[in-house]
Amino acid sequence: MDYKNATGHIYDIQGYAVHDGPGIRTTVYTKGCPLSCLWCHSPESQRHEFEVGYLQIKCLGADVCQDACINACPVGALSRNEPVQALDGSGAIQKAKIDREKCTGCLKCAKACITKALYATGWDTTVDEVYDRVIKDRGFFQNDGGITISGGEAMAQFEFTLNLAKRLKDSGIHICLDTTGFTPEKQFEEILPFIDLFLYDIKHMDSAMHKNLTGVGNELILSNARFLAEHGGALQIRVPVIPKLTDKESNLRSTAEFCASLGDAVKLVQLLPYHKTGRMKYERLGWRYKLTNVEPPEEAFMLKTLEMFQNHGLNAQLY
Ligand code: SF4
Ligand code: SF4
Repeated sequence: MDYKNATGHIYDIQGYAVHDGPGIRTTVYTKGCPLSCLWCHSPESQRHEFEVGYLQIKCLGADVCQDACINACPVGALSRNEPVQALDGSGAIQKAKIDREKCTGCLKCAKACITKALYATGWDTTVDEVYDRVIKDRGFFQNDGGITISGGEAMAQFEFTLNLAKRLKDSGIHICLDTTGFTPEKQFEEILPFIDLFLYDIKHMDSAMHKNLTGVGNELILSNARFLAEHGGALQIRVPVIPKLTDKESNLRSTAEFCASLGDAVKLVQLLPYHKTGRMKYERLGWRYKLTNVEPPEEAFMLKTLEMFQNHGLNAQLY
């Protein structure tokens, strides 16, 4: 088969992933997403453009690198911060400080920073490069493992994702596509023959609430789920359970009813309890984390919700 050597923006490739579909997988994370969920634990995935992240703990101090990042910045967005004690007890150091208002995202500081305290949130790549990287993991894909193309929203870079899926499929690799479902139906129609399992999020059944929580309504997402189910797609549906936002009994019940209405196409429903692990990533980007008052749901509530999904005849589990 002839593959276009489509280019894409990605921000990570992780081997030995055990939560991104069946078996042991390698996950390719594409950058850019049309949604901006309040609980997003990968804020670096949201924008298509690369940004500069700052992991302050890796900064050795401007004396050590002789102001490398500060000198590289063309707009004066970097400066020395207030002195702090070095962790190794060697005295006071001045770490870098970013003025995000001034930063234009040119990434010159990331190239200059030897410790990668300042870093670009992704890189340009091609289908060939990703294929060459992930195929090395093939020995781990026993049974039903394989590759998961995730995001962000992988369908937002449709040519890249389609051509990557085609190339992997020709090599006989099991492919999962992790998607928000927010993409034109005709793109799902085109990619469907190359995807073994769609990891598909249903975040809220009320469209106005869905828009408040994610930035977009849910009509396209629900109709695409039905389209895939009616055209031979296999779905693993994922339902985020976020206290005060998605955990009303009425919403969870109508989510279960919707999943059940898709019939045999739904192989598994996973309930995803809210967790806080993404919070630190917001700091690295200079973004504000909005769900500071939300705590993970109680285990008893998750078990009760699980039972309710199972009572709808669904193969359901806690994530
Ligand atoms: S990415 Fe921002 S902080 Fe870094 S060099 Fe460019 S403008 Fe300066
Ligand atoms: S961020 Fe990197 S280049 Fe800038 S002061 Fe720290 S170690 Fe040096």
